[in-house]
Amino acid sequence: MAQAKKALSKTSGKNNSRPASRAAVKTYQNYINGEWVASQSGEMFENINPADTRDIVGRFPLSTSDDVNAAVNAAQGAFDRWRNTPAPKRAEILFHLGEILIRDKERYTADMTREMGKVLKEAGGDIQEAIDCTYYTAGEGRRLHGFTTPAEMRDKFAMCVRQPVGLCGLITPWNFPMAIPSWKLIPALICGNTVVIKPAEDTPLSTYNLVKACEEAGIPPGVVNLVTGYGESVGAAMTNHNALRLISFTGSTATGRVVASACAERNAICSLEMGGKNAIIVMDDADVDLAVEGAVWGAFGTSGQRCTASSRLIVHKKVYKQFVTKLVENTKSLRVGNGADPKTDVGPVINNDAVEKIMGYIRIGRNDDGAKLACGGKRLTRGDYANGYFIEPTVFTDAAPDMRIAQEEIFGPVTTVIPANSLEEAVEIANGVRYGLSAAIYTRDVNRAFRAMNEMYTGIFYVNASTIGAEVHLPFGGTKATGNGHREAGTQVLDIFSEWKSIYVDFSGKLQRAQIDNVESSHSA
Ligand code: ADP
Repeated sequence: MAQAKKALSKTSGKNNSRPASRAAVKTYQNYINGEWVASQSGEMFENINPADTRDIVGRFPLSTSDDVNAAVNAAQGAFDRWRNTPAPKRAEILFHLGEILIRDKERYTADMTREMGKVLKEAGGDIQEAIDCTYYTAGEGRRLHGFTTPAEMRDKFAMCVRQPVGLCGLITPWNFPMAIPSWKLIPALICGNTVVIKPAEDTPLSTYNLVKACEEAGIPPGVVNLVTGYGESVGAAMTNHNALRLISFTGSTATGRVVASACAERNAICSLEMGGKNAIIVMDDADVDLAVEGAVWGAFGTSGQRCTASSRLIVHKKVYKQFVTKLVENTKSLRVGNGADPKTDVGPVINNDAVEKIMGYIRIGRNDDGAKLACGGKRLTRGDYANGYFIEPTVFTDAAPDMRIAQEEIFGPVTTVIPANSLEEAVEIANGVRYGLSAAIYTRDVNRAFRAMNEMYTGIFYVNASTIGAEVHLPFGGTKATGNGHREAGTQVLDIFSEWKSIYVDFSGKLQRAQIDNVESSHSA
């Protein structure tokens, strides 16, 4: 994804005439040490509605490293008290947070659609995910299991417990404006860490709502700190801050690499969730209607702006024609529009940079790659579309696996159909990209389903379902350029936000040397 200043790019281009009501625009603040404060520079940036760029959602602090420093100091000050708060007590506060999120879900949903563009149903789903994550992860307050194990010697006890990492920096993207922040924030808190969170510059309001709810839930001052602003300034200041022991990042693979290098320089823990180029394999024995439905949902849900989006459809030649005909028919029937309109299927894309990038890939697909444009392909600019970032749902067919549109993450409403002759060939094509997040197969043959499940090198796999739709109690993440080996969600996320401490208790009253120091005696009874 492009890394230019998104909040500016949201307003750039020709569709930026402003309504008369600028004075009514709400101003938001950072949250540092339990106080709502302006950025130290006093500067602000605008959060713009991508469906109607005349609509300014709010003004947010354009923070700098000074604000990051203040937030980190606050997190430092709160850490000892929070880590020593019993985990079940921390959980109680988080359960209360869950209740607040449920209570205000409708308002958060409308805010999210307004700032991000996704249709109301999906925005509601995003908040539901935050609720589910909060309840599920808060339950860990009464588990956070470690283990005991026999020691080598008599009168010695061995066990292993989780300890918090310390101060965590959370850097989040715009496509799941509340779900992804919650995936990081809630596990960080239950493990006893304190945090500084920086939402994407395009969608700070949903994270603001989450942090505001944390305040109301009774999370003590300094435990959660919110700093809004740009990646190159606030994000980089966090990534380079020596006191932040861990950076948890979700975003593009290019930015993830920058974050990882900065963390490596100072030996910080770094957890990355990045791009995808996810494939659905459709076999000749598949229920083609079901596969088409899954493909349309996976490719065009959230306007294709999910890291798990179904951006490649690898279809067996025997059902290829049938599949493509139905796919194009279904795609053409999708209603593009403002996500706030309940009749809309596909909302706008996030900003002007995204439009340029996606339209660039559509040009590449037609001209350089030479794939067949089966439907879509245009930016919509007239009538109700005049002030937003709308792109027609687009299908390329007859593509070769090595084409750029079949290899690179487009992150928009574009999908590419690739023919295959066999399951083996389909799996090879599906694995033949630099990413490894999600994949799916449609087949009625259990052997083929298990074969594909076994052979696909991805972090997530679906049978007879689309590549999207992760549940919070299963680990989420990917292989290869998608991640760096960590998994969010599930209980596996605890391994990111806690560190193991092995503890030996010798109650023999004498010096007992461990086996490595005492080879002979270790064999005697
Ligand atoms: P996208 O192109 O989808 O915006 P990015 O990876 O650029 O994806 O952004 C994801 C998050 O990373 C955002 O919160 C953004 O502000 C932040 N970010 C961007 N550049 C940097 C950087 N150099 N260092 C740290 N964070 C950054």
